[in-house]
Amino acid sequence: MSPAPVPEPKIETSPSPESFTEVALLRPKLSVVIPLFNESGSLGELHARLAAVLARVAIDSHEIVFVDDGSRDSTYSEAAALCERDPAVRAIRFARNFGKEAAMAAGLRAATGDVVVLMDGDLQHPPELIPEMLERWRQGAKMVTAVRRSRETDPWLRRQLSRGFYGLFKRVSEVALAEGGGDFRLFDRAVVRAINSLPERTRFMKGITSWVGFRQEEIAFEPAERAAGASAWSLLRLLRYAIDGLSAFSTLPLRVWSLVGIGMAALSSTYGAWLVIRTIIWGIDVPGYASVMVATLFLSGIQLISLGVLGEYVGRIFTEVKGRPLYLVAEQAGFPEEER
Ligand code: UDP
Ligand code: MG
Repeated sequence: MSPAPVPEPKIETSPSPESFTEVALLRPKLSVVIPLFNESGSLGELHARLAAVLARVAIDSHEIVFVDDGSRDSTYSEAAALCERDPAVRAIRFARNFGKEAAMAAGLRAATGDVVVLMDGDLQHPPELIPEMLERWRQGAKMVTAVRRSRETDPWLRRQLSRGFYGLFKRVSEVALAEGGGDFRLFDRAVVRAINSLPERTRFMKGITSWVGFRQEEIAFEPAERAAGASAWSLLRLLRYAIDGLSAFSTLPLRVWSLVGIGMAALSSTYGAWLVIRTIIWGIDVPGYASVMVATLFLSGIQLISLGVLGEYVGRIFTEVKGRPLYLVAEQAGFPEEER
């Protein structure tokens, strides 16, 4: 005789991950999330190629979520026009440019699929890779990252800097980043739920995806040239992004200053002792201007740097404490009525 079944505690209304996997193994619902910033030049081709790919994969249904990150061209009106023609298309328009991280966050929150693919809107991420990513997911991967085989489409300086960044990140932070892993990824619903539950405002998706864990796999791909328009990432913006990423996943920049301080203190006291001894043995000699200047300037330089680093972190604490929303939606189109 089997005991009466104990009712499962109900935490959320969506099905549990297990039943998701079972349903999904057969025919998942697939969402494609695409952040857009001034991408009107590639939107038409992007949609056509996506539709062609999605028509031949074994899925239950699909949706394409365009998030227009405050474009200044006709990106949103074109996306809204696509909503009219294709019932699977949804479009969200931000009130201004909130940045790609915010756009990705909004898209992941709006997506309803059992599987969510995140990709760029400039056709550098070929949609034709989606079937292979889906296959990996069917075999059990919870996250599939498309890693660029080469960075030939990037300028030389940018390639060097990004290699330096990945090297530094690996050494100082708590999570490891997939080198060359851009934001072309497939997520299982369980991962999307985990990412959506993170409240932080300074977001760094590459770090977040590796922080949440789950079974991750990589596949290689060759990025294409941008279909149209120009990259919105200047070197300065990339540098800011790198600092955001490092400070979000490492406190080493904060802690390293105590070590530097101890080192400097040891050095200066040795030097001080030497000065005292020298004065006792050889008497007072006036020329000392150079050493005093060097020590003063060097130490004040170090102090300014450490203050700056403190400032970076305090600034981020400030952003988090203000608790402002990550983005504001101005309008949206293509969503089922009840969600409005
Ligand atoms: N993007 C965005 N908001 C921004 C900048 C970029 O949503 O402020 C989008 C852009 O439309 C594209 C993706 O992020 O879909 C990648 O941008 P981009 O191609 O400029 O970056 P890169 O490929 O040079 O790293
Ligand atoms: Mg690009």
